[in-house]
Amino acid sequence: MATTNTCPECNGNLLYEVSTKHFICKNCGLYVTREQLDDIRDRLRPQRRKGSRESEYLEWWMSKK
Ligand SMILES: [Zn+2]
Repeated sequence: MATTNTCPECNGNLLYEVSTKHFICKNCGLYVTREQLDDIRDRLRPQRRKGSRESEYLEWWMSKK
């Protein structure tokens, strides 16, 4: 897990501005709070293909009824 303040958009260095509690990327101009940063990182994470087999099974099971 990366704990360094790296911009999720451009991998540039993020600066933390204590007075506004925002992270600022000087490279692409990203300006986000800690929560928004986590949110962006969450969305950029590769989607796990979890659940597709379960839903196929569910459809089969439902069609049997
Ligand atoms: Zn950036």
